[in-house]
Amino acid sequence: HAPPPAMTAPSPSASTSLLTRCVRAGKTPDPTTGSVVPPLHQTTTYAQDGLGGDRGFTYSRAGNPTVAALEEALGALEDAPPAVCHRTGMAAITTLFLSVLEGGDRVAIARAVYGGTVRLAREILDPLGVEPRFFDPNDPEDVADTLAWQPRLVFLETPANPTLDLVDVARIAGAARVAGALVAVDNTFQTPIGLRPLELGADVSVYSTTKFIEGHDATRGGALVTRDQGLIERFRRITKSIGATQAPFEAWLTLRGLTTLPLRFEQHCENALRVAEALEAHDAATAVRHPGLESFPQRDLAERQHERGRRIQLHGGIVTFEAAGGYDAAVRFLGALELCLVAENLGAPETLATHPASMTHGDVPPEQRAAAGITPGLVRLSIGLEDVDEVIRDLTRALDAAGAAATSNSPAESKAQSATEVTA
Ligand code: PLP
Repeated sequence: HAPPPAMTAPSPSASTSLLTRCVRAGKTPDPTTGSVVPPLHQTTTYAQDGLGGDRGFTYSRAGNPTVAALEEALGALEDAPPAVCHRTGMAAITTLFLSVLEGGDRVAIARAVYGGTVRLAREILDPLGVEPRFFDPNDPEDVADTLAWQPRLVFLETPANPTLDLVDVARIAGAARVAGALVAVDNTFQTPIGLRPLELGADVSVYSTTKFIEGHDATRGGALVTRDQGLIERFRRITKSIGATQAPFEAWLTLRGLTTLPLRFEQHCENALRVAEALEAHDAATAVRHPGLESFPQRDLAERQHERGRRIQLHGGIVTFEAAGGYDAAVRFLGALELCLVAENLGAPETLATHPASMTHGDVPPEQRAAAGITPGLVRLSIGLEDVDEVIRDLTRALDAAGAAATSNSPAESKAQSATEVTA
């Protein structure tokens, strides 16, 4: 039989910078044509040279050369073997859970995580006999109790969606290792450019590539990255079995988006800090959060844990705030936006405004939402790549409108009222 053609490049080595890896990893010029852009192998199946004579690919649910190129690239970014890519971020998280958990096992999940992860744990894992426990990774007593409960897997997200609470990955991973638990970190918000979970001691990095990694609001996707070959094999078997494999065109677009990830991500971070500083100066926004702000409660951890870019430290593209006046003011703010879009995604070129309590975290039980700090007045902004001065003008104008309509409340009264609601 003919040997399988080299479909993907050996990844640029770990000594190559992330900038170079994002441009080049997984992208060998096509061996038959020299095409610099990896071909889109939009195929379901592969002809074999007689029985058993395949060239490394048999059926695209099990593997596809375009998806393999993306997997090579995402693995290379974390000095790991090829990632396992999925049709959505939730498919990646489902694969992780089904790969390492079985009936009777326990899974510890940070209490502030994406709402879809909470729904998956409560509505699907729990009835299958996998008990979830939601814990506060910043409360040492809760961490100790949770690890003593002997979870098989500890699932973290940092910065958390939408509260931006940070988790000290090295600290939790160290303690979890002693307790014999695997640790996975959903690194969707920071990407491998802004946070290095595997270097901090996590076993698995989890991604929704739908966000910054593809970065153009054009695809859905997910990925699991690990250096543990046994886990990789398990991930591949489960992915194939449940049909969660990424599709070729989505992979092709994601690989193209990845090319500019470091440039885009740093610009997202820079714009987000500018927006956060502008919001802090506005009376209609309280409790403004961005890990780059001086006022951010976990500033030390942000400085210790987040990577540096070429110009600035990378604290992410997301900003949150409480609308002074609570839910009604948040609704007025969202309704007054003109340039920024009210939408559910994040990490996109467009600045997107989301109301977590009714949108991304609408299925999280109200008491769990409250415990995680997701209040009715909370607004999440994913700061895009437009001219940031124009974004700030739009946000400021919408805040003016939200504040002006707050009837007789003075700004100071609105702040006080909102502060009460935050702690309620
Ligand atoms: N993880 C995080 C942190 C998210 O924000 C999301 C989606 O918003 C997901 C996972 C799920 O990803 P997807 O929408 O690609 O399934």
